[in-house]
Amino acid sequence: MLVDLHSHSTLSDGTLTIEAMVAAAEQRRYDAYAITDHARGGLNNHRDMAGAVRSEIDRLSRETRLQLFAGVELTDYHPDRIARAARDARDAGAQVIVVHGECVSMKVEPGTNSAAVRSTDVDILAHPGLLSEEDAAEARRRDVYLELSARQGHCLANGHVYQIVRQAGARVVVDSDAHEEEGLLSTEKVAAVVCGAGASLLFLTRVREQYAPGIIQKVLRRLVLV
Ligand SMILES: [Zn+2]
Ligand SMILES: [Zn+2]
Repeated sequence: MLVDLHSHSTLSDGTLTIEAMVAAAEQRRYDAYAITDHARGGLNNHRDMAGAVRSEIDRLSRETRLQLFAGVELTDYHPDRIARAARDARDAGAQVIVVHGECVSMKVEPGTNSAAVRSTDVDILAHPGLLSEEDAAEARRRDVYLELSARQGHCLANGHVYQIVRQAGARVVVDSDAHEEEGLLSTEKVAAVVCGAGASLLFLTRVREQYAPGIIQKVLRRLVLV
């Protein structure tokens, strides 16, 4: 199953419109796809961003068989604000909540990973960098998915993330974090990301056949409950 629940459009810092990104994902034979544009702590714009992405995704969903989701990536929110912002973004229409984690390639407030895995409304902790064992264990308990990133720079810590995730028994998702068409995933790219992080082919199968459908079910379950 080819699933990608973290990507960007011109609503934040992507280069293509949502419509163009969705068309590109369709061409790549995705099974499920989410646009999760940046909501930024300094702008406090998570509600507006959630609403804007959602209305465009709802429009495009009527024209495609690809399973589409609207989301936001909470970026540079103070850890103390993450849980509340996630809930408010969900109320404003976000179906997938991603938190911009403590990657090794840019500065992110310490404590962000920890706050994200403890927030009920967060689905994915993106590019968690030097993830701690404690946060991975918490992610497992709360069914928060930890990301192996296909994006340049963010992917630097994938080997570490995989080691910690494996020890903790947490669930992982591979995301493109694409900001342009070329950044999107393919079956081969997912294999390169997972195996390049040091995982076995058996783990790759688990990512495709267990974790990918698992997070879609989790997201859909929430939608039914809303
Ligand atoms: Zn990010
Ligand atoms: Zn991103």
